[in-house]
Amino acid sequence: EETYGLVLFNIGEPKTADLELVAKLRVRHSFEDLPIVVLTDRADRNVIVRMLEIGANDYILRPLSTSISLSRIENQLRVRQAIHLLQRDRKKMRETLNSIPDFIFRVGREGTILDLTSGVHGELIQVSANMVGRNIAEALPGEIGDAVTAFLDKGLEVGSLEVYRSPVLSTDKEVFAEMRLVSCHDHQAVCIVRDVTEQQKVEEELQEMAKTDTLTQVSNRRHFDELYAREWLRQARANRPLALLIVDIDHFKRYNDTLGHPQGDLCLVKVARGLQEGIFRPGDFVTRYGGEEFAIILTETDLDGAFLVAERVRESIEALRIDHPASPTNRYVTVSVGVAATFPAREQDPEILLRAADQALYDAKSGGRNSIAGRNADQPLQVASNS
Ligand code: GH3
Ligand code: MG
Ligand code: MG
Repeated sequence: EETYGLVLFNIGEPKTADLELVAKLRVRHSFEDLPIVVLTDRADRNVIVRMLEIGANDYILRPLSTSISLSRIENQLRVRQAIHLLQRDRKKMRETLNSIPDFIFRVGREGTILDLTSGVHGELIQVSANMVGRNIAEALPGEIGDAVTAFLDKGLEVGSLEVYRSPVLSTDKEVFAEMRLVSCHDHQAVCIVRDVTEQQKVEEELQEMAKTDTLTQVSNRRHFDELYAREWLRQARANRPLALLIVDIDHFKRYNDTLGHPQGDLCLVKVARGLQEGIFRPGDFVTRYGGEEFAIILTETDLDGAFLVAERVRESIEALRIDHPASPTNRYVTVSVGVAATFPAREQDPEILLRAADQALYDAKSGGRNSIAGRNADQPLQVASNS
């Protein structure tokens, strides 16, 4: 289709036909796409008014003056150019906004969606144009609507720039949404809802990794410290006992020296697995405390209970029958276990239980290895048993 920059319309007779023609042109081409300038006589006042009503952009009076005509035509072309530039920028802006994977919308005080971007929002929100004018609580599916509403209620009050992350259920699948709010004039706000499910997963995995010993896959020392401090306070509050086992592989240096370090690593993995399988209660945690030492936290367990677990642990490692050709104690890999228990008190130093278990381990080692020994944290050595 051919395009014209501007129509110069010379009004003749009959004038009604000219009016119809201009009206027709205007239906097909918008005001800014095709400026129409009519040439008319001063006497035709009514025609000028009608023409402007119908959609002429401007008029020029006969007799024509070249300079006036040119400036008025130029003016129309300038306006047309300016509008085109604006439209092009708007389009670019919209394309940019729509390519953002976030759900971005403007919202009024009562939670009415005023406008939105139609970007790609994945699992979180299926955006449709008919959301505009509706309240978010009903425009967005289920929990997302509720979460965003709650966030807006809070955010609009304080004009918050706060970022808020919330787990929400979207069609049976848990997703994580991050929301931020930017207050604007006229009690409006721009709300940005971002699907951060992937990030959340990665963060959780990283946190899990930071707590796990890479070799044995049980909790590492850092996680032990965290668990131990937490359980100490928890048992103190509940006035329940807390027990600790320190499990140390017997003659492990010799094991490494005869079979090699890689074999030693494999042995640690097997022992860790053996320990984990010997632990039965949800409140019990196996952790790698140091090189060939494991610490086991037993919640709500007194010394008698801890002894039972310790003995079971000792037996189960022996029962793994991991050959230990260099051990003077046994033909298989064995462990010694230091046992300690106490009723924690908030004001007490949690170290006392650790120290007691460590001393008990020393007793078990002196007692001939492949054995267990234990004590209450604030009492002397109680039992040393040996198979
Ligand atoms: P005891 O019966 O008194 O416990 O003697 P032990 O040889 O087990 O004790 P010692 O503390 O003398 O040696 C511990 C050894 O554990 C030293 C080191 O070679 C080994 N070890 C510590 N961490 C690792 C590890 O990550 N991998 C391997 N393969 N060996 C380790
Ligand atoms: Mg050791
Ligand atoms: Mg050892």
